[in-house]
Amino acid sequence: MADSSIFSKIRAGEIPGDILRETERVFVLRDIAPQAPVHLLVIPKSEQYRNVVELAAGDPSLLAEMVRVAGELAAEHAAPGDFRLVFNTGPDAGQTVFHVHAHVLAGALTEGSLAN
Ligand code: AMP
Repeated sequence: MADSSIFSKIRAGEIPGDILRETERVFVLRDIAPQAPVHLLVIPKSEQYRNVVELAAGDPSLLAEMVRVAGELAAEHAAPGDFRLVFNTGPDAGQTVFHVHAHVLAGALTEGSLAN
């Protein structure tokens, strides 16, 4: 069996991290290297899906929950509730953690945020 992802290790308390909230199926982590004034990650508790394409095919209701939580976070953390939702998909697109996660970015975004 593969090792747990870094996100699961943070959730388990094995390595430090700033978890802001949990629902039944997802949790929210503050990104360690923020690309915008608000940069949060919405992550399913399950590691079953590596990316958003697999998730959408396998469990659309879980994807919908991630989007709902992202909207709630933006309403709480970004002034007018406007935000960018990014799913890097594949290494050539900048994905480095293969446990699906949504980046919630808000507040004075710069051109090229997450294009690293
Ligand atoms: P991606 O490149 O789309 O796979 O996104 C992975 C994200 O996880 C990056 O934005 C990293 O900054 C973030 N990240 C990596 N390690 C940690 C950590 N220990 N705590 C919080 N965020 C992390």
